[in-house]
Amino acid sequence: MKTKPSKVPARVQKEIKMNKLCKPIKNALAKKYGARNVTVRNGTGTAWGWVHAGIEINKPLFCICNYDVKAGYCHNCRDAMRYTSVGANAIALEALKKESLEPYTYSDDMGGENAEILIEIHFKD
Ligand SMILES: [Zn+2]
Repeated sequence: MKTKPSKVPARVQKEIKMNKLCKPIKNALAKKYGARNVTVRNGTGTAWGWVHAGIEINKPLFCICNYDVKAGYCHNCRDAMRYTSVGANAIALEALKKESLEPYTYSDDMGGENAEILIEIHFKD
């Protein structure tokens, strides 16, 4: 069976496969949030160094979204997302540190260094 030719250059594909950041992050986040609730992958193409983490969490007990649908997520949900995101980011950075790895960083306009770990929080239905 022939495989389709890819648009991504071989050199970049190799780098994608060799992105060592994903595994320790995945393991550490899975330990905290459960393997089934965590996905970790790196970016593609020019963004291959980025790490994308997705975490599924339960809605907070005191969710009042249903009463105020137009406002999007209620403040309890937004707090839960923010709390989880900050926690997961710390766990991810700690996991890399243990492996003597460093996240890829970019500088913002203010001269700050930002780690390229993107964390998205989703609620379970
Ligand atoms: Zn809510």
